[in-house]
Amino acid sequence: MDNPSHPLSYYNAYTCPVCRHGKISALALMEAFACNFCRHIFTANLEQQVITMADGQFPLTWYWTGHNWQGMATKNSLGWGYGLGAIAFVVLPTAIMGLGAYLFPPLPGSSLSWFPLAWTGLTFISHLACVLWLLLEYYQLPVFLYLEALRQRSQ
Ligand SMILES: [Zn+2]
Repeated sequence: MDNPSHPLSYYNAYTCPVCRHGKISALALMEAFACNFCRHIFTANLEQQVITMADGQFPLTWYWTGHNWQGMATKNSLGWGYGLGAIAFVVLPTAIMGLGAYLFPPLPGSSLSWFPLAWTGLTFISHLACVLWLLLEYYQLPVFLYLEALRQRSQ
């Protein structure tokens, strides 16, 4: 790059801050950018050098440092409280199931002795899947587009 530090402007294309795969460029006659890969739309504020996702559930904002995007905490950003909640949501039921299986072990040799362990594993996986799904929804990550791009690349 001949000029690694250039200000945000409507005349350049930038790596998309959401998918980090496509390029965002200005929409004709509009003070907005659109990604050619994940199709997200961003409104821009050139004075503050920030863009805000316009079509997401949450107004995620990024600051342009001159060569890359820096995520900015918004009022709706996920705080550490949510992180703890998510961890508790996954760990607690699993721990309770595991504890139950430990405190009340099945009779050795009975045909269902595998059941508490399998059930504990299932509890863990299902709760983890819930949390991952919520995260993907929150960040609007184009998972299916990623998979599609990987598939096309491998062909
Ligand atoms: Zn994108």
